[in-house]
Amino acid sequence: MSDKVSSLIDITERDWSADDFWENFRQIERITLELSQRYHYSLGKQSRFFIELANRRFFATACAGCGQVYAPPRPLCPACLQPSEWRELTGEGSLETWSTLHFSPGTNADVAALQRPYVLAYVLLDGADTLFPHLLRAEGLCLRRGLRVRVAYNDGPVSHPIHLMCFVPA
Ligand SMILES: [Zn+2]
Repeated sequence: MSDKVSSLIDITERDWSADDFWENFRQIERITLELSQRYHYSLGKQSRFFIELANRRFFATACAGCGQVYAPPRPLCPACLQPSEWRELTGEGSLETWSTLHFSPGTNADVAALQRPYVLAYVLLDGADTLFPHLLRAEGLCLRRGLRVRVAYNDGPVSHPIHLMCFVPA
């Protein structure tokens, strides 16, 4: 048996009907396969946001029409369909809500390396009108709505440039 076999489900003992059409196929093997893919992905019109994270600067977009400020940035305002302009924010804001995660989806190496539990926070950045979801590193801290937080930068290396930042208590 291969070491990839995680379980063997023997359902031959079950009381199938006498004329079991699938009688010869009742042994089910379940295996674990590992897949990895390497592909190019464009960060598109949001690219400047990520480029500036590497420069330790935090940018949102402001709608040229209605003035709504989006963080995360949106190249096109969904409210009035006007193009946006880049606007630098201080990177400080307030915790609006959060979730403590005890399991990691491990969607990339950055996420898989997170110590669990970790906190996914929704932060209203000063000068923005939308909530920015991201990691909040606040180990041992009692979280409350309105807690002042700020963007903390790191120099990587990271699998995805969004992990060049996280939130920490201000
Ligand atoms: Zn607008």
